[in-house]
Amino acid sequence: MAEYSALSLLKNAFSGNRDWKPAWRKPDPKPSYDVIIVGGGGHGLSTAYYLAKEHGITNVAVLEKGWLGSGNIGRNTTMIRSNYLLPPNTNFYEHSVKLWENLSHDLNYNVMFSQRGVLNLAHTPGQLDDMARRGNAMRLAGVDSELMNPAQIGRLIPALDLSVGGRFPVVGGMMQRRAGTARHDAVAWGYARGADRRGVDILENCEVTGFLRDGDRVTGVTTTRGEIRARKVAVAVAGSTGRVMQLAGIDKLPIESHVLQAFVSEGIKPFMDTVVTFGAGHLYVTQSDKGGMVFGGDIDGYNTYAQRGNLPVVEEVMSEMVALFPGLARVRLLRSWGGLMDMSMDGSPIITTGPLPGMYLNCGWCYGGFKATPASGWCFAHTIAKDQPHAFNAAFTLDRFHRGILIDEKGQGSTPRLH
Ligand SMILES: Cc1cc2nc3c(=O)[nH]c(=O)nc-3n(C[C@H](O)[C@H](O)[C@H](O)COP(=O)(O)OP(=O)(O)OC[C@H]3O[C@@H](n4cnc5c(N)ncnc54)[C@H](O)[C@@H]3O)c2cc1C
Repeated sequence: MAEYSALSLLKNAFSGNRDWKPAWRKPDPKPSYDVIIVGGGGHGLSTAYYLAKEHGITNVAVLEKGWLGSGNIGRNTTMIRSNYLLPPNTNFYEHSVKLWENLSHDLNYNVMFSQRGVLNLAHTPGQLDDMARRGNAMRLAGVDSELMNPAQIGRLIPALDLSVGGRFPVVGGMMQRRAGTARHDAVAWGYARGADRRGVDILENCEVTGFLRDGDRVTGVTTTRGEIRARKVAVAVAGSTGRVMQLAGIDKLPIESHVLQAFVSEGIKPFMDTVVTFGAGHLYVTQSDKGGMVFGGDIDGYNTYAQRGNLPVVEEVMSEMVALFPGLARVRLLRSWGGLMDMSMDGSPIITTGPLPGMYLNCGWCYGGFKATPASGWCFAHTIAKDQPHAFNAAFTLDRFHRGILIDEKGQGSTPRLH
């Protein structure tokens, strides 16, 4: 935040932040907008930002039922990568990484994007062959990727037990060095501030309770703060997609909601400066700038709209963590939490016009929605402004599930094995 000097920070600290300008306004809803975006998570806010910035559409409202950051944008483990096999995912996620690389500068807000690398471990020769194939596909698409052998991995992360307790020895790994992490709530705040400054109204505590219709066409929404009309209504509510779309009469979507848990340990001395994923189970871990180990595993295996998970997943994640890093067995766990995941049936997202006239849908993010935040908003804004997808999201249609053109990485990317 360049506008605050060290001196003014000090002055604010001693004056209860009296002169501190709010990062975004708290306007009352207008009776109508050009575009309403339902959901003030990362994707809703980035969509509003890019609508204003790239397309000059500023008569926009973002409607958030709680406060900004209360959903998954403030709950994820912040891992960012573009190491996919299939071209639609590779191109889309690489576009996202490129936006991440300039995001702090673009927003004039430090999102703490840290290209510390993401290392996927392989535990069988077959898995390593798969990684070589995926790495080659990435390199052909101009995305960085390198295979590492166990000795190189041992030098990079000396605390890693390369034998993984003798059961799943590490036979190699695939590293994407431009991948990494970012500060999740700064991403929400940065996009909110950027959108607000371009004239977008961000309406918190404004829950959408229904859709206004003229025949099939969606013409607005009913909310806890009154009726609001719009020429275009875009839905980006991630794990709440099923419930919100039901309000518009759409009760069949290729999406299931599950809870995903995450964990952070007490702070310890820096010992690992990359993200690592365990390929014989499902674990992804990084060390935060404060020193805590931030990690997670699989979704809880039942459908739910509750943001609280169960102990079997906790036990599994902890045992995988200790198998990889036996030296951390006595480190104390500080906190755990959960978030609602919108799991699509092929593990890839949906960014599309429809399914009703006047409506636009963004969902199906599975484990990958944080890394997608910039590209998702960028592509959704294009789709809303032009009434057609950009080449980057052309494959992420809803009807691919009817037509059988799935984008399924089969454990290579967005579905469980890797994060
Ligand atoms: C524990 C965990 C770890 C994760 N780790 C990673 C990771 O390391 N890397 C990665 O890429 N992804 C990760 N993800 C996934 C990622 O966080 C999500 O895919 C992404 O944040 C979803 O998009 P969003 O930010 O827009 O969602 P959200 O922040 O959930 O936004 C949706 C918003 O819609 C609002 N809403 C819902 N219903 C209504 C309504 N009726 N009216 C108005 N507003 C409404 C909600 O309150 C919410 O704020 C993780 C998720 C979880 C839960």
